[in-house]
Amino acid sequence: MSFETVIGLEVHAQLQTNTKLFCGCSTQFGGSANANTCEVCLGMPGVLPVLNARAVELALRAAVGLDCTIHPTSQWARKNYFYPDLSKGYQISQFEHPYCTGGVVTFEVRGQTKRARLTRIHMEEDAGKSVHNEHVVGYRSAVDFNRGGTPVIEIVSEPDLRSSEEAAEYMRTLRQLLRYLGVCDGNMEEGSLRCDANVSVRPVGQKEYGTRTELKNINSFRFVQQAIDYEVARHIDVIESGEKIVQETRLWDTEAKVTRSMRSKEDAHDYRYFPDPDLPDLNIDEALIQRIRSELGELPVARLQRFVETLKLPEKDARVLMEEKENADFFEAALQAHDNTRGVANWVINEVLGELKGRSVTELPFSGEDLGALVGLIDDDTISGKIAKEVFAEMLVSGESPAAIVDAKGLKQVTDTGALQSIIDALIEANPSQVAQYKSGKVNLLGFFVGQVMKQTQGKANPKIVNELLKKHLE
Ligand code: ADP
Ligand code: MG
Ligand code: ZN
Repeated sequence: MSFETVIGLEVHAQLQTNTKLFCGCSTQFGGSANANTCEVCLGMPGVLPVLNARAVELALRAAVGLDCTIHPTSQWARKNYFYPDLSKGYQISQFEHPYCTGGVVTFEVRGQTKRARLTRIHMEEDAGKSVHNEHVVGYRSAVDFNRGGTPVIEIVSEPDLRSSEEAAEYMRTLRQLLRYLGVCDGNMEEGSLRCDANVSVRPVGQKEYGTRTELKNINSFRFVQQAIDYEVARHIDVIESGEKIVQETRLWDTEAKVTRSMRSKEDAHDYRYFPDPDLPDLNIDEALIQRIRSELGELPVARLQRFVETLKLPEKDARVLMEEKENADFFEAALQAHDNTRGVANWVINEVLGELKGRSVTELPFSGEDLGALVGLIDDDTISGKIAKEVFAEMLVSGESPAAIVDAKGLKQVTDTGALQSIIDALIEANPSQVAQYKSGKVNLLGFFVGQVMKQTQGKANPKIVNELLKKHLE
């Protein structure tokens, strides 16, 4: 029998606020354990939460960017459960009345356009973190509540995804959009973006969905794909051996590359959701939505289209340049400084991005304008492409402007015909046999003479002028 895979993702994205959802504590990642906590986010008796307006704006940006239906009134609910990393004993979330529903993510898999509908997005506060065998003497666990109370949105998709590859591509597209929108930094290693993957299989042609399992807290595109592939194969094995899939929550073991049962699936009623008595309904007026819409900026699809259609970049290059918003901004700043799309694009793709190796372009000690200026120096014959690489290497170290480096190191190209002329005269006199061979037809010896001139000028001679002068003198 052949089976079809069905996947729905629940993506958690941390909102890029400076402070938490209901208190003034910092959301900075990596502070010392429990430094960023207070009575409110720890849930001391008698405290009152105060909603962070910035978090609501960022959540709305996501909703507008994803074409969701935004509800004028939504409600905060308590999701009650016990876990060591949840000192309050409940999480403030949205349940029956989320701030938005619907929406869609459009993405591409192997050149084909796919759509996954969104069920809803709701806001909630994140839990803290259990720390096992780290910073703790002996075989013990500790809790760090710094993350507790950090604002997140949970983006829930319909079960519209049909392969692990689609799931990974859906997530990539979502991450890119959220980063373009400035909603979430998308840092998966730090847990700013993570997903739960719900997986089931059904015989091809069957309408009803099969029983699903939920793979919790996956934090890389590779793991999403591996975990789903493993789980799909496991489902098929179980079904083919005549047994039934149990609905449960499982974890992906990144070392052993298997999923392991974590707990049987709890139902919503186990959380005993009820409206949070400390918080009024959240009212969102049309004017706020309009303002957010007007501030959205250019989204990835539009930018890609502009790069291809207006800038006439090949689609492959356009995709490389716009993949990360910072790179696209850097490229456009370079282009502002020097209007040569092809030249600037090549330099950004081959040299700048090649140099980054995982770092962000914003960490470079020079700006896009500086890179544009460098390409400008090549185009106006101030330096050769070869010397430009030397200047670029220096820019990476010192962050100096290319013009300053060229000046300080005396790298300006020699275009002075008189100066080149005398070098060539001396060369011709010193190499009579090569001259004779050239004249008798070994014209590829021209390369030897060009090389000699370059050597004597430390690569600074303008190659075009050298070629012309040599030809004239040898013939
Ligand atoms: P819960 O909140 O308990 O996790 P939901 O009903 O909100 O449950 O569903 C969560 C996710 O599971 C959604 O993304 C949905 O698309 C997905 N899902 C539901 N049924 C299936 C199924 N049979 N196979 C795969 N995914 C499913
Ligand atoms: Mg779930
Ligand atoms: Zn706090």
